[in-house]
Amino acid sequence: VTSPALPEPDVRLPVRPELADEQPYGAPQLDVPVLLNVNENPYPPSPAVIDSIARAAAEAASGLNRYPDREFLDLRADLADYLLEESGAHLAPEQVWVANGSNEVMLHLLQAFGGPGRTALSFAPTYSMYPEYARDTHTAWVTGNREQDFTIDPERAVSLIQEVRPAVVLLPSPNNPTGTALRPEELNPILAAARTSGPDGAASVVVVDEAYAEFRRTGTRSALDLLADNPHLAVTRTLSKAFGMAGARVGYLAASTDLVDRLRVVRLPYHLSAVTQAVARAALTHRAELMAQIASLRTERDALATWLTEQGLQVVTSDANFVLFGRFEDRNAIWQGLLDRGVLIRQTGPEGWLRVSVGTPQEMARFRTALGEVR
Ligand code: PMP
Repeated sequence: VTSPALPEPDVRLPVRPELADEQPYGAPQLDVPVLLNVNENPYPPSPAVIDSIARAAAEAASGLNRYPDREFLDLRADLADYLLEESGAHLAPEQVWVANGSNEVMLHLLQAFGGPGRTALSFAPTYSMYPEYARDTHTAWVTGNREQDFTIDPERAVSLIQEVRPAVVLLPSPNNPTGTALRPEELNPILAAARTSGPDGAASVVVVDEAYAEFRRTGTRSALDLLADNPHLAVTRTLSKAFGMAGARVGYLAASTDLVDRLRVVRLPYHLSAVTQAVARAALTHRAELMAQIASLRTERDALATWLTEQGLQVVTSDANFVLFGRFEDRNAIWQGLLDRGVLIRQTGPEGWLRVSVGTPQEMARFRTALGEVR
């Protein structure tokens, strides 16, 4: 039973003109058996993880009459420990920042360093959420283009950066939607140029968005290695992908203390709930178990890429938990055909390409059968 709508008085809201025709961001959340559209981890937490989380949440619940810890240094220390283990990066808790998903971390970056009269820059195709942070912080948005193979030409990138003088440069690695990781020959010249390429001779903040870093193939280095020499570098990560905790909304960043201190200025007080802090810390105690799963997702990814290639399709080599493949004359028809068979993937990236997340072996079998039928 739906209640009758309230009468709507004839008043016009003062909508910002640039928002007038905007729709809420996000892929359709459809009730479909095989969900391969938003690069989630297909495995729900194990009973042991659920148990730890439930206990941590119960303990947090007993103190919910109080506001949470505004600085959450315990969680930041746990994340610093994790990054030391995962990438060998030595970080103080004060060099780590946490928010509700790495999306919010990046919004904090734009709130701190963007703003009217300033510009944020990325290289297309890139993560489709970036222009939204720019819009919401009144920051101008500029994109350069990637090459045919989706790499960034460092010389062209540097001259664009010097021309645009961006306050923030956003570089996902692995990139979404292509799955390609930045190579040192792309990143190093950008970082060097960025030291003085920002507004008024300041640096540009270079954000390397490593949401999918844990899925990278051996030999691919994390940008965390470069933090010690680059106080204008910020590396963002998340518990949403490899950790399988997308529903908990925990993202984080590693950077110089100076940079993190600017984020502390713009965050809302108590932005990270006591429950979120407790749940994240509990999940991190199980990191060995969670990391073990990543190896099988990587294997599944590589098998998927091989199979797609065998079907005569173009496939981009992926360091992430998804694969971009194509090219189709009518990608919408393929997408719809898969959906009709209970498999939801994503239409994103350049015209003709489709992106599929890596699921369980059973889910991938359904995807392969469905794609075989649709083609
Ligand atoms: N960066 C990239 C490249 C992503 O693909 C995503 C999720 N789709 C995010 C950041 C945001 O993830 P979250 O806010 O869940 O941490």
